[in-house]
Amino acid sequence: MVVGQLNKVLILFILIIYSNQNLNAVEFKGKFIQGSFILGKVDSNSKVTIDKRSVKVSKDGYFAFGLGRDRKNDVIVKVFTGNKTKIYEKKVFKRKYKIQKIDGLPEKKVTPPKEVYERIKRENKIIVNAREIESDLTFFTKKFINPLDEAIVTGVYGSQRILNGKPKWPHYGVDFAAKEGTKIKAMLDGTATMVETDLFYTGGTLIFDHGHGISTLYMHMKDIYVRKGQEVKQGDIIGTVGSTGRSTGPHLDVRLNWFGVRLDPASVLDLR
Ligand SMILES: [Zn+2]
Repeated sequence: MVVGQLNKVLILFILIIYSNQNLNAVEFKGKFIQGSFILGKVDSNSKVTIDKRSVKVSKDGYFAFGLGRDRKNDVIVKVFTGNKTKIYEKKVFKRKYKIQKIDGLPEKKVTPPKEVYERIKRENKIIVNAREIESDLTFFTKKFINPLDEAIVTGVYGSQRILNGKPKWPHYGVDFAAKEGTKIKAMLDGTATMVETDLFYTGGTLIFDHGHGISTLYMHMKDIYVRKGQEVKQGDIIGTVGSTGRSTGPHLDVRLNWFGVRLDPASVLDLR
């Protein structure tokens, strides 16, 4: 039976191709859309690069990365297993952000006063350094929880104001409305890498490291209950809602980063 033999050969051939492809397959959790956090999983002894950056792969094969607010080009993920390389080219879907134009404002409302420049620069450096930490922690593989029991969203990621024709820094967080003193929960297990009680813009501010360059921020806090270097568990009360720094009223602003890339916390939280 020539046809039967041919079929067998064909099946064998398909199986060989299939197993070869599976050898260094990658699983992605998360959407390839601007601002998104993406969790990847590969064979534990694989190496991975995102664009050209080589990223940590955990013992269990997990790695993480994210897509910036204005990311336009495709993401190139390379997975190296043994002597095989697999390349994934992923299209990044674009989002539309809320843009608000306000003209005719008094100039001092638009630019911060000269005397605080140095302070702002100094404080930015502290934040940048905390975000650059690349630890072996793997807390980022776990599902995030909301920082407040009642998640009333009043500000979204990516929105931007254009004041007197000058585009301001986009908003990279999610704002939650809450009464002053409302307890804030840790969204994920992590280590506090920055604890500051009085930053110019963000007042009482916490940064947690969750491993592999993934960090979260909590801003405008009233009370802070953690020390630098302290490890927290998801759900631990880390402080309370305030209106410290440049804030117009009590609220919590949370942020999510992959190193210097600011991601949308909404991509990991359960918000309606
Ligand atoms: Zn905010």
